[in-house]
Amino acid sequence: MDKKIRIYFCTGCGIGDAADVPDLEKTAKKTSKNTADTRTHEMLCSPEGRAMIERDIATDGVNAVLVAACSARVHQDTFRFDPPTIIDRIALREHVAYVLTPGDEDTQMAADDYVRMGVTKVMKTEPMAPAVTEVTASVLVVGGGVTGMAAALEAANAGVRVVLVEKQDKLGGWVASWGRKFPTRPPYRDLVDNDIDARIEAVEKHERITVYKSATIKSISGQPGEFDLRVLVGGEEKKETIGAIVQTTGWRPYDATKLAHLGYGASKDVITHVELEKQLSETGKLVRPSDGAVPRSVVFVQCAGSRDPNHLPYCSAVCCRTSLKQAKVIRDLCPDTGVTVLYKDIRTPGQYELFYKSMQEDPGIFLAKGEVTEVVAEDGAMTVSMKDSLLGSAVEIGADLVVLAVGMTPVSEEPILNLAYRRGPELPVGKYAFPDSDFICFPYETQRTGIYTAGCVREPMDSDACCEDAAGAALKAIQCIACTARGAAVHPRAGDLTFPEFFLNRCTQCKRCTEECPFGTLDEDEKGTPKPNPGRCRRCGVCMGACPERIISFKNYSVDMIGSMIKAIEVPEEDEEKPRFVAFVCENDIIPALDLAAAARKKISPWVRFVSLRCLGSTNLQWVNDSLIKGMDGVMLIGCKSGEDYQCHFIKGSELCGVRMSKIQETLVRLALEPERIAVREFSMGDWETLPDWINEFVEKTNELGPNPNKGF
Ligand code: SF4
Ligand code: SF4
Repeated sequence: MDKKIRIYFCTGCGIGDAADVPDLEKTAKKTSKNTADTRTHEMLCSPEGRAMIERDIATDGVNAVLVAACSARVHQDTFRFDPPTIIDRIALREHVAYVLTPGDEDTQMAADDYVRMGVTKVMKTEPMAPAVTEVTASVLVVGGGVTGMAAALEAANAGVRVVLVEKQDKLGGWVASWGRKFPTRPPYRDLVDNDIDARIEAVEKHERITVYKSATIKSISGQPGEFDLRVLVGGEEKKETIGAIVQTTGWRPYDATKLAHLGYGASKDVITHVELEKQLSETGKLVRPSDGAVPRSVVFVQCAGSRDPNHLPYCSAVCCRTSLKQAKVIRDLCPDTGVTVLYKDIRTPGQYELFYKSMQEDPGIFLAKGEVTEVVAEDGAMTVSMKDSLLGSAVEIGADLVVLAVGMTPVSEEPILNLAYRRGPELPVGKYAFPDSDFICFPYETQRTGIYTAGCVREPMDSDACCEDAAGAALKAIQCIACTARGAAVHPRAGDLTFPEFFLNRCTQCKRCTEECPFGTLDEDEKGTPKPNPGRCRRCGVCMGACPERIISFKNYSVDMIGSMIKAIEVPEEDEEKPRFVAFVCENDIIPALDLAAAARKKISPWVRFVSLRCLGSTNLQWVNDSLIKGMDGVMLIGCKSGEDYQCHFIKGSELCGVRMSKIQETLVRLALEPERIAVREFSMGDWETLPDWINEFVEKTNELGPNPNKGF
């Protein structure tokens, strides 16, 4: 496609006061070697401003639009035009008008540089050619418990075919063996019937749901839209083509044999609340396991092993309500039996607080806050010791039956999905074995595109929350199929039509791209040459940053493009005393933080030029090299938080960048530069107030080192 580039300058929002826009127009034309022309409008985001651009596209053959106005994070719909029009933005408002001194020489120089960088970028951008594939509108649900059934029904009712695989010989999971459930209706005092049988029937009768019971997954290969599924059902192999996957493999109770200090195993009369639920729902009776007698006193020990660094450090969210529910069932069955609930904290969020209050009104239920230290267990007579945090003294409570409210652990690490992926057969998990990803921004997401999790395998929750969670994950799965059909990315670059292209003639089979891709996108052949699966790709560019041969690029993002943008920055001579700094910043947290700082008019040094990256993990060492050779006095790389509580939208991007930058020393030695000229820092969006201060301090301190001796070469 022959590009007809037009650059649209906005003079609104103070841009026209901050910089000489007619002069910027000259800069734009010069940078494009007069292949582009320009227009100016006093408010480009107004209906008239947009109409002007639309008209130019329709009647003037403009097919590459560069909007020099506000941040690309605002007015996205206003400046969205259908492909094949190329669209890009220059944030003159956030990087210049809001943060620099209006009319100043340095301000004009900054605006000129941003225009040169923007024009260079759009000149290097190629029209989108999305990897459109045939997709199958079907969802695989793995696990036939309450979450899996809800996901299956949601997807099927939305018109999608569902294949549900359950390893047991019946559907329902844990909930199928439970009695009545927590109150779900006002006044939130009365237990409700378990409706699991109706759900099972709805799933089994649904015309769009195929249920495989007593079934295990032999393998899943391929990519979203066209996963190849092999299921073993009673020794027979079934094949299915699947569009997206929801894993709902649920939970299992924490292993109570690890809780010897709470008497488990020492007496039959110390049981878990899962065991109590089974007894109550199957027999409709309350008995003491050691002798079958009706216990006169039942003590519930809350947080048994939970919120305990030696066992499960997290809260399982449901145990408090389960114990209160079981206390009510016990009191209804055996009015002469007293119930004591010993808790660290009672956690009954939302309307469940009303249920908790109703339990407090029962004189046969005693609730006490404290830390249970020991259960001395002999059949038929037990003593529970507790440090009572309210009285400040130790207390001992006798019990005929002790119930341990143990927490939930996810069923995530067994052979479940059997993915035929180079990076492993199951979903990567975090510290506590829950499938891991950036849940703060993207619930249901996993590190494998097109595979979502819902219910207790994702995080502890009750069965009603599981059903809501299932709806969310099912919708995400459907959305993924729709995006894949268009060749578009899912979150966080939702709708992006680009994908990494590999110039494999120059591949040295070093495998860095395969190993560093956070999403397991790349398989490889026997020689180690990467085999891309565009449907699995999130378009982060981490592979691009990893490749030492620089042979991975996108239509609108490449090593050459960013390198050319750096070269477009004018670096004044040493005697002009106008240092230059380049800051490579992640578009996910840092650009929003800079936008917030700009909105608050926080001043930023006029010597800094920001380059927005898809992820800090896409940083190629060449860019840092180019910057220093060009005479930049310092380089900043600013990305999202890494580590255990990472916020990187692409999992390990900022961490990988840190590792790569540790290898830059050789360049610094070669260029006779001080290591302090390069800084890698992590910020979150919430740090927007301190981010400009850190940038300004870095500029000030690096300036004290004197100018980069490579200026002018
Ligand atoms: S590293 Fe990112 S851009 Fe590269 S293949 Fe993997 S997901 Fe796609
Ligand atoms: S990083 Fe580059 S050279 Fe190495 S295997 Fe991947 S494509 Fe080939």
